[in-house]
Amino acid sequence: MNSKNRNIRKRGPATLAVHGLERRPKAHHAVSTPICQTSNYSFDSMAEVVEFMKAKAQGRIIREQEYGRYFNPTQLEAERKLAAIEGAERAILFSSGMSAVILTLLAYMKKDGHIIFTSDCYRQTRDFAANVLGKFGVQNTFVQPTAEAIEAAIRPNTNIIFTESPTNPYLRVPDLPAIVKVAKRHGILTMIDATLATPYNIRPLEFGVDLIIHSATKYLGGHNDLLAGVTLGGHQLLEDLNKLQRMFGATPGPLTCFLLERGLKTFPLRMEHHNRAGLQVAQALEKHPKIEKVWYPGLKSHPDYAVAKKQMRGCGSVITFLVKGGGRQTHKFIDSLELFLITPSLGGSESLVTQMATMSFFDYPLEFRQSLGMVDNLVRVALGLEDPEDLIADLYQALEGVPRQR
Ligand code: PLP
Repeated sequence: MNSKNRNIRKRGPATLAVHGLERRPKAHHAVSTPICQTSNYSFDSMAEVVEFMKAKAQGRIIREQEYGRYFNPTQLEAERKLAAIEGAERAILFSSGMSAVILTLLAYMKKDGHIIFTSDCYRQTRDFAANVLGKFGVQNTFVQPTAEAIEAAIRPNTNIIFTESPTNPYLRVPDLPAIVKVAKRHGILTMIDATLATPYNIRPLEFGVDLIIHSATKYLGGHNDLLAGVTLGGHQLLEDLNKLQRMFGATPGPLTCFLLERGLKTFPLRMEHHNRAGLQVAQALEKHPKIEKVWYPGLKSHPDYAVAKKQMRGCGSVITFLVKGGGRQTHKFIDSLELFLITPSLGGSESLVTQMATMSFFDYPLEFRQSLGMVDNLVRVALGLEDPEDLIADLYQALEGVPRQR
């Protein structure tokens, strides 16, 4: 890195979100990033093709424009900006958070290996581990999100530790430096799905985590209008994933990349709002007599409050809570909300509400669902960018209609 780049690296998150690391002229002198809607790129002559192919055979890339599955300039702009925001050397974009999770696991898992996942994780990640990894002879273990539980689960063939932070829906915040210490002692690769934290609220690379994954569908995109995922880390480490992605082709389209890069310009501003609103609404919910319990890492009552305080800038705007009563009362509460849309997901401009037991986990056998903590009165809200006072008023008016428990 030259000294010019070192200076640029000291820029604040809002500046990085607007400019990335470098100021580069865009095609046609456009201020915004042009959408390059093409699936392939032509050569001017066969001589150019021969020169290109010869260089490629020697491992030299003399032009990136070859085929849409390998390269798109709009995608590259979004990747550069994501890497700058995360403080990573490189970012690789995917067509969804799940394609980022799955391809990253596929790229680094080992035949007959073992992967440790932390519990309370995104349902599809759990299903991939439980139903698909075994087909490749890869074992998996789910443990509580603590360094002690992880260390106790390590086997001679463990080569990946995969955790989320905060977890979903109970918003556990694993102690990342402690986990990294365990992983390094055993020579194990660490991956974190930091979707719920975002690079604004947590800096896993600074704790020594190897690879970071985000569903960019959430806070990074920020407007409930795109699907994308990203994996970030060091250049060399990401080369294996890059090769797999070039084969697999789970790339986002140019319009998605444009929307993502555009959304990133306001990412730090939105996160400030999400952090402030999240705490304000969580505190208001905790005070309400018809709420049994609230999970939000910014509340002193959360089991990981101290860890969150140490390693997070803010706690975002996902809040999980128990409504006093059962499924019937919970449905009534949700149906009475006016500003919250009934749907999973999080991190966008509109506030969303989900009853996990009915929406994301309904098809699991009841006993298993309950063992994961997906009880009928468990509700998760993901605040949008509305005024928190309006959201609190809406939650309170909807709770009014919930019959009081005796
Ligand atoms: N990881 C986490 C923590 C998530 O919450 C989600 C989606 O909700 C995903 C991954 C999957 O992301 P996507 O929906 O973009 O595939």
